[in-house]
Amino acid sequence: MSGMKGICGIALRGTQAVSVEVEVEITGGLFSITVVGLPDTAVKEARERVRAALRGIGLTLRGRIAINLAPADLPKEGALLDLPMAVGLAKAAGRIEYSKHALFMGELALDGRLRWVRGAVPAAVLARESGAPLYVPHANEQEVALVSGVEAYAVDTLLDLMLHFSGQKTLPRIESRTFEEMDFAADTDFADIKGQFAAKRALEIAAAGHHNLLMTGSPGSGKTLLARALKGILPPLSDEEMMEVLLVRSTAGLPAEPGRARPFRSAHHTASAAAICGGGASMRPGEVSLADRGVLFLDEFPEFSRDVLESLRQPLEDGSITVSRAAGSITYPARVLLVTACNPCPCGYSGDPVEPCKCSPSALDRYKRKLSGPILDRIDLHVAVPRLRPEELVSLDGDCGERSSDVQSRVKTARQIQQERWKEMGYHCNAELPEKILRKHLNIEPDVKNFLANTMKSLRMSGRGFSRILRVARTVADLDGAEKISVPHVAESLSYREGCAFSGSGWGA
Ligand SMILES: [Zn+2]
Repeated sequence: MSGMKGICGIALRGTQAVSVEVEVEITGGLFSITVVGLPDTAVKEARERVRAALRGIGLTLRGRIAINLAPADLPKEGALLDLPMAVGLAKAAGRIEYSKHALFMGELALDGRLRWVRGAVPAAVLARESGAPLYVPHANEQEVALVSGVEAYAVDTLLDLMLHFSGQKTLPRIESRTFEEMDFAADTDFADIKGQFAAKRALEIAAAGHHNLLMTGSPGSGKTLLARALKGILPPLSDEEMMEVLLVRSTAGLPAEPGRARPFRSAHHTASAAAICGGGASMRPGEVSLADRGVLFLDEFPEFSRDVLESLRQPLEDGSITVSRAAGSITYPARVLLVTACNPCPCGYSGDPVEPCKCSPSALDRYKRKLSGPILDRIDLHVAVPRLRPEELVSLDGDCGERSSDVQSRVKTARQIQQERWKEMGYHCNAELPEKILRKHLNIEPDVKNFLANTMKSLRMSGRGFSRILRVARTVADLDGAEKISVPHVAESLSYREGCAFSGSGWGA
């Protein structure tokens, strides 16, 4: 950015930092401080912190002081601007001589120590683009080090920074680190989950083609555990994806996570739309953005409000979410693999091998209607996760199937095949394919056409339902290493069609 000059701080716009120039003027007269460009409540708090910290280094402010934070109309956060305001005041009061352009960030404690702030990663990216040095609280060092090519310094206290400028002390320059290939241990390995082979296979297909998934099963059937295990079979984050994840976490005020594991976030149905979608008074990314490049898990899916489900449409279609507020709207990344789970009926035991269902037919009907909705169109895979019978649990002892790492390598290969195939059309995975591209480039065996025509007729399937079957069949074929989609691929895909997970509960297909 070329417009940056003098002593600057930052404001956050989405996951980007925008430079804020701090101009200070001190004139004679009675003591007063006015700050232009910050909301009143933020000014009051920031003024107290900055004044106290300056007093701590022996600088008592006098006279009429005007601080201008430009551009004035940019929404700002007081705490992020404590340090540049203190430096600007120290300079205007003649305490330091400083004429270079630099970016400062940090919240000041009353004793002059610098506190961790959100937004250090976006600030480092801005510093790199503008070629200016960056001064950040020591506590932010780890994440700033992950942005290469930045001249950044870690600061413990305001006094240290003053001594650095007067040449009496040299602040350590932050050494950049690279994202090393780190093995990460997933919370749950596939081999730790007994049985549930159909659900595990559905997870593998979801991971391979980036298909959103709905799991239906009674309480205690292990839906949450299965969802968590998805993290371990997804391919690791690339450098570019890791930077995006890092930017979102820093903006949200969360520390960087080690390793290349994809994010896994679960949201409760009582969470507010702001908590899930982002925004709110403090303008932070929501769960759907914290899950960017990873998994968003919504348990008890039918209990979520229509508003929340409706607002998830955009991220599922565009891979980003736009939050509106008075000063305009901002966009956060939100490319998620959506995993949803629900009970088969209100009491939870429809189709259960042991517990009987106590729901009335009308209650079942209402429940089923609640499940249909805007998001369901975006969920390609439906799978039943039944509770295991006690005798099954015993007979499965010692046989839990493959480890996550084995499944992950098949997923990686299938993803590579898709990337190669759709590269020129600009798609990454089968789930992204729009209808017309899908039908044009299907590459199916001749006998599949007849099979499909017959099935469509007998199942009375809609056009949309049909496209979902084809997308999933393409992924099944890719996992199989097959160039052409054949009847078994389509047959497997049909077993994950909408409503199928309920067939065991007497709802029919
Ligand atoms: Zn029931």
